[in-house]
Amino acid sequence: MSKNKQVFDNVLDLVGNTPLIKLNNITSEFKGEYLAKVEAFNPGHSTKDRIALHILEEAERKGILKPGDTIIETTSGNTGFSIAMVSVIKGYECILAVSSKSSADKIDMLRTMGAKVYVCPAHVSADDPRSYYEVAKRLHQEIEGSVYINQYFNELNIDAHYKNTGPELWSQTNGEITHLVACSGTGGTISGTAKYLKEQNPNIKVIGVDAYGSVLKKYHETREFDKNEIYPYRIEGLGKNLIPTATDFDQIDKFIKVSDEESAHTAREIARTEGLFVGYTSGAAMQAIKQLNEEGEFKDGDKIVVIFPDHGSRYMSKIYSDKWMEDQGFFDSRNEETVKTVQYIK
Ligand code: PMP
Repeated sequence: MSKNKQVFDNVLDLVGNTPLIKLNNITSEFKGEYLAKVEAFNPGHSTKDRIALHILEEAERKGILKPGDTIIETTSGNTGFSIAMVSVIKGYECILAVSSKSSADKIDMLRTMGAKVYVCPAHVSADDPRSYYEVAKRLHQEIEGSVYINQYFNELNIDAHYKNTGPELWSQTNGEITHLVACSGTGGTISGTAKYLKEQNPNIKVIGVDAYGSVLKKYHETREFDKNEIYPYRIEGLGKNLIPTATDFDQIDKFIKVSDEESAHTAREIARTEGLFVGYTSGAAMQAIKQLNEEGEFKDGDKIVVIFPDHGSRYMSKIYSDKWMEDQGFFDSRNEETVKTVQYIK
């Protein structure tokens, strides 16, 4: 994974070694220095390239995978795209079982990358044979030589970040990082990165970002799975309605919850203030920093790293659509310039 070459062997050579970019405006009133790890610079435009490549190369190393074999996963999101991309280069069949809630755009994107997509009904329970979990499990049993990635329960998800994201951040900050702020979905990013960083300096504070409607924060505080915490929310990729084993809760010092509305506005603010076009969870992570700053978490001299997991282009029909924002009621209490800034010349 070196990005210093003039010519790359293939697109996978560009996975990892993403830049750490100073935030100069959005945090200008806050104490401390703020650095964003911008994972959209991966070739698949998200942090999930790292786990797709690592998990598949580990399976190859162990002799579990050989060319022509089949990779199976249950996601229409970033992980699906990254697995499809790695499969193209390495010559694997890629099967993705996705929910019927997935947008047509997302399904087309995966098909363009050569994946075979099974669209499964969203309204059935997880243990229904038609659910995308059960369809993936069945296909895995039926297809000989297939590998089921199962990112929420795969230790290699943590390992990918322990071996790559953690060392990159330690070296990019010359060991001066004091805080890591990262969203937690599967938990792989935050757990693996934190594990490496805390081995170098146990005083580094690790803060996980969770969504209202998710069980993670309460589980971290009480070790109780409280299903009353669960309700629908809009941010994709952040928080969960189950406890993933890819989250190492002991590596995380505390969780903070953010709202759909504030995260969406903060993502837009990152674009306007820093010129960085990033995804919904990047807005969530930045929103968490705002709240932490208000709580007095940071002091002068701190070096705070925030992970921006993916690119804004995946959210054109969501947070970057004024219509969608309006439909959610996210403009109700604000006086934001929206479509008014577009002028049609007739
Ligand atoms: N942001 C986005 C957009 C994601 O897709 C994910 C993955 N679910 C995350 C954040 C969280 O990363 P992780 O799964 O490593 O906790």
